[in-house]
Order: sequence, then C-alpha cells, then structure tokens
Amino acid sequence: MSIRQLPIELANQIAAGEVVERPASVVKELVENALDAGADQLTIELEQGGVKRIKIRDNGCGIGKDELALALSRHATSKISSLEDLESIASLGFRGEALASISSVSRLRLTSKPAAQAEAWQAWTSGRDMAVQIEPAAHPDGTTIDIQDIFFNTPARRKFLRTEKTEFSHVDETIKRIALSRFDVDITVWHQAKRVRHYPKIRKNDDQQRRRRLAKVCGQNFADNALSITSEGTPFKLDGWIATADECRHQADIQYSFVNGRMMRDKLLSHAIRQAYERYLPPERVPTYVLYFWLPPEQVDVNVHPAKHEVRFHQQRQVHDFILQAIASALHQQQAPAEAQIEQ
Ligand code: ADP
Ligand code: MG
Repeated sequence: MSIRQLPIELANQIAAGEVVERPASVVKELVENALDAGADQLTIELEQGGVKRIKIRDNGCGIGKDELALALSRHATSKISSLEDLESIASLGFRGEALASISSVSRLRLTSKPAAQAEAWQAWTSGRDMAVQIEPAAHPDGTTIDIQDIFFNTPARRKFLRTEKTEFSHVDETIKRIALSRFDVDITVWHQAKRVRHYPKIRKNDDQQRRRRLAKVCGQNFADNALSITSEGTPFKLDGWIATADECRHQADIQYSFVNGRMMRDKLLSHAIRQAYERYLPPERVPTYVLYFWLPPEQVDVNVHPAKHEVRFHQQRQVHDFILQAIASALHQQQAPAEAQIEQ
C-alpha cells in the first residue's frame, strides 16, 4: 500500500459524512447560513421530503460574484479568522465545511446578489476537481441555494434515507426548532408545491404573538397553559416556558433547549431540568419545556461536535445549579397557592 492524497471530491464526501446525514441536516446548515447572513425572511421549498430537492431563499447580505467559488470550497468561512474568534463565537456557523460537503454529495446551485452588486450570479460545481462554474442570473438581493438529488453519487449513504414522509417530518422538526429560536424571522415552508407551514415574523416583545408561534410549534394546549419563566443571575440568564407538572406530556416531544440561541440536546441541561421537576412530576409524565439559556460566549465551547449538537460549559456545576434553581422555584411558586389552601 502506498500513501496518496485523496481526490478533493472524495475528501469532501468523507467530511460530509459528519454533517450531512439526511435532508433535515442540509436544511439546518443552509438555514443557519441564511440567519448568519442577517436574513429575516426564509422560503424553504421541498420536493419528496427534501430527498429530491431543497431550495432555500433568503434576503440576507448575499455573496459577491468573486466569493461564490470560495463559499463552495472547504475551510472557507467569513465568520472566524483566528483562534481567538473561536473562543467566543457569535455566529451559528464557523467551520466553513457545510457548502463544500453538501455540494460534494448533491447537485448544488448557489445564486446570490449582495445589495451593492448590480446583477446576480450563479455558481455550481462539477467534476472530481470540484471546479466551480459561474454565470449571470436573475435574483433579488439575497441568496438562493438549490439542492437536488442528495446522495445521488454516494449510494451507500442514500440507502439510509427513509420514506418521503419520514424525511419530511425530520425537516419539519428542524424548522420548528429554528422557528422557536428566531421569532424575528418569517419562515415559509412549501412541500410538493403546497404551502405547508408559515411562521410570520413576530414584533419584538409582543408576548401574545410569541404565544401564537409557540402554539403553532408546540400545540395550543402548551401555549395556553405553560408558565413563562425568566431568571437572571450573573452571568447567566434563563427564560422561556415550562409546563406545570400536571400539564407535562407523556412523550418527550416538547423538550426544546437553546444555548445562546442554538438548539441543543445537552445532557447537563436536561439533567438539571429533570431534577427540578422531580418532586412534582407524576411518574408517567416527562418534563415539557421550551427554554433559552444565555451565558457569555467565552464560557461555552460549541466546537465539540461537527453538527454542533453538543456544547461544553466551563462552569458546569454553576450552570447546572442555576437552571435547577430557576425551574424549581417557578414550579414551587405555581404549586404554593394550592398547598397553602390545603393547610388552612
Ligand atoms: P460556515 O457557515 O461555517 O462559514 P459554510 O460552508 O456553511 O461555512 O458557508 C461558507 C461561507 O459562505 C459562509 O462563511 C458565508 O460567508 C457564505 N454563505 C453561505 N451561505 C450564505 C447565505 N445564505 N448568505 C450569505 N452568505 C452565505
Ligand atoms: Mg454554515
């Protein structure tokens, strides 16, 4: 066996294995890019649950003609430039891998127009060397990424795709998380040429409108009955909604936690939440919540997992106790009037 350099396309396909699992993971990466670009309007079009096509248009800052090719190449990002930046990341992306990975396992077209550029341009890659072709196009300010035939050239991965219906439900869930993380963004979803979801943009601090979006994502019952909680300490903050113990669900389908606006499934957070509920929860029910935890970005490491599902807190104990306290006291206050009556 001799050692040789992998062809660039193959190297990208291997990297894609880490972030591109199914249409939902493509949607996640592309929407995060649009949000990082400052968009407040997203249109997501899907065909066959995203397996045939995922097309996302945003009204963000766009990509200049001269940077289209770079955007599609690996390790190219506008979001960080030094190790220092990595210590306190404010953007959702920073690895510069998503577009290169996705384009290596699909047919990708990127069309974009920054406001300052007179015309739009479209880029796509072809061939083993990932050479980028560019031509003029028609497009308003912003970006559209059109992805077709995910895994068409990697049959081993295509085998793991499920039915359209299943893939759509994964995409839908991904979009729900985004809808809960950014109330200030208008999101429309089309599937098979039908508009299937619309989350209108919410005015800042309009609690009634926020509850309306909450109802669209989590159901009317949760939106009507959840306790809203806010707890501020230094340097942490927790807010969001939690179900009272009696209203908690039997399934773990409403358990959304966000760290600095990023959706997470973090063991430390879920442990703290579970512990807070412990005293109150009937045995067959599970904690039910939408919670936003905020802390200074330099106190959390998001570069733990390529898909950024996990984080590492520097002050684990303090984070755990803060969350436990905040939820336990909200549940306790809610419970207290009833207990007081019994004692009389
Ligand atoms: P990352 O998000 O980690 O930087 P990506 O491969 O996802 O890496 O994107 C590469 C670069 O392409 C981004 O850093 C950004 O500059 C640009 N880009 C991608 N999508 C968009 C978009 N929708 N609008 C504006 N710029 C974008
Ligand atoms: Mg990205």
